[in-house]
Amino acid sequence: MSLSLESIRESKPRLFRAFSALEHGEQHLQRICELDHYWERLKRPVERVIFSGGDLSADTVISGEYDLIYAGGTLSLLHAALMAGKYGRKVMIFDRQRPAKSTRDWNISRDELLRLSTLGLLTEAEIDSVIVRRYKNGWVEFYQPDGRQKRLVMDNVLDCAVDTDKLLGLAKEKIEAVSGCDLLAGYTFLACYQFDDHIVVKMVDQHGQLLYSKARVLVDVMGILSPIAMQLNHGRPHTHLCPTVGTVASGFEDVDFDTGEILATTRSADLTPGKGRQLIWEGFPAEGTKYITYLFFYDEADSLNDKSLLSLFETYFETLPEYKRQGKNFVLHRPVYGIIPAYYHDGFDRKREVADDHIIMFGDAASLGSPLTFCGFGSMVRNLHHLTADLEQALCDNQLTKKHLEKINAYEPNVASMANLMKYMCFNNSTDEPNFVNDLMNEVMHVLDDLPHRYRQAMFRDELKIEELALVMLRVAWRYPKVLTATWEKLGVQGSFGFLKNLAGWALSPVR
Ligand SMILES: Cc1cc2nc3c(=O)[nH]c(=O)nc-3n(C[C@H](O)[C@H](O)[C@H](O)COP(=O)(O)OP(=O)(O)OC[C@H]3O[C@@H](n4cnc5c(N)ncnc54)[C@H](O)[C@@H]3O)c2cc1C
Repeated sequence: MSLSLESIRESKPRLFRAFSALEHGEQHLQRICELDHYWERLKRPVERVIFSGGDLSADTVISGEYDLIYAGGTLSLLHAALMAGKYGRKVMIFDRQRPAKSTRDWNISRDELLRLSTLGLLTEAEIDSVIVRRYKNGWVEFYQPDGRQKRLVMDNVLDCAVDTDKLLGLAKEKIEAVSGCDLLAGYTFLACYQFDDHIVVKMVDQHGQLLYSKARVLVDVMGILSPIAMQLNHGRPHTHLCPTVGTVASGFEDVDFDTGEILATTRSADLTPGKGRQLIWEGFPAEGTKYITYLFFYDEADSLNDKSLLSLFETYFETLPEYKRQGKNFVLHRPVYGIIPAYYHDGFDRKREVADDHIIMFGDAASLGSPLTFCGFGSMVRNLHHLTADLEQALCDNQLTKKHLEKINAYEPNVASMANLMKYMCFNNSTDEPNFVNDLMNEVMHVLDDLPHRYRQAMFRDELKIEELALVMLRVAWRYPKVLTATWEKLGVQGSFGFLKNLAGWALSPVR
């Protein structure tokens, strides 16, 4: 599905006006349509993209040979820069857009970011050069009709705004400095062919020209749209999703440039027919006078809600004035958008397929990041050390089958358990009162406020320990007993049992 701005003039008037005034507005619209294509693909038979080597024609011309080929050019840059720079691997990255250019900006804490310097990927000075703003603190707040919501303030959580393209650009320079490595723009992944000791990747450029390259491992980093993840997970690569839209703008009248607004709601759930969603805002100061606002909601992959980014953008422009006041000098610089994936593992450990022979998935293609705190980038930073060292070991040992590669992943049992908490954030019209998500989360904020500061930090940095989560849950149940019936109604027998399995898996897991 491809649309022109003109074609949405009547149906999405606010989006039309805003994007028409933007540089590259038409291009952004195309990328949004490309992402919205995901919802259609969920309804169609799964496309086969992984073939056996015997299916490749014998006269195929192979134009390049690498240790690693990365399909997708965002988080791959961080991984590939280490594989090339630290381990001397010959890598190739291709992207159907441009590698190292993203449609989002990231937040993280400086302590987390410093791991990149410990790994030798960036110097501390380089890390500081990509941090465009640091905040004193951040807060989380959920709407209460009587205005008595608890604002939970915390520091050292998502308190650095990162210039994503600059960070990826630095990684790109490091890859380009290693001879034999290549970065290709405008190449789309079509298929791959598995042989005993290698894999051949079939790509197509924007003029329809085919290209075949060979590698020992294909790293699938195609994000939410990965056709490999779709095939290996039988058309259900995610259980939950978080459609997210927003803008980088300047000229708001009521923003505090020293504070990040990590999660904020301004009203009860949206109950429009066919929709049952609790809309949530985020607001982060960025470079200079720029300010980023996001609007998103959590939802089940197969709910009947309209989850299209296009519709959410229209809602964003309609409701933005409720969240932030636009002054006389208000200027929209660019949109930010994406679909944040989440996977609920129904079992004691990882259930999602993340590898096959000579194929491994990282980033959103693997969908092992936290669904609660926007942390696909954070997950990669936290796990980069073992995702690179373990893959290097597998290459050295020539252990590149599914059995070996699937052990190299960013699965974290604590993060997996958080997917259960996310289920409470998915508003359900048939079981929940309109302010259910806000009421529950407001109680969680009270509980966290009564506990030592580290609890809130750990909760929002995916570092909560199991006994800490148990304490938070017990206290929430004590303050807000409705959560017990809600658990039964929202999670059901299978879901409630699944939550216990996740917790047991977490309790029994070795500390990494
Ligand atoms: C608005 C927004 C804000 C966010 N903020 C944060 C944050 O503050 N902190 C944080 O930790 N995380 C954040 N995230 C999550 C984070 O952005 C993602 O986890 C991260 O971008 C995932 O990177 P990726 O490389 O796996 O996938 P993507 O970023 O989706 O990149 C995939 C790449 O693959 C390419 N591609 C797709 N299909 C093909 C194909 N067939 N052939 C070739 N190329 C293809 C795409 O063009 C794209 O460049 C945010 C997400 C959104 C949407």
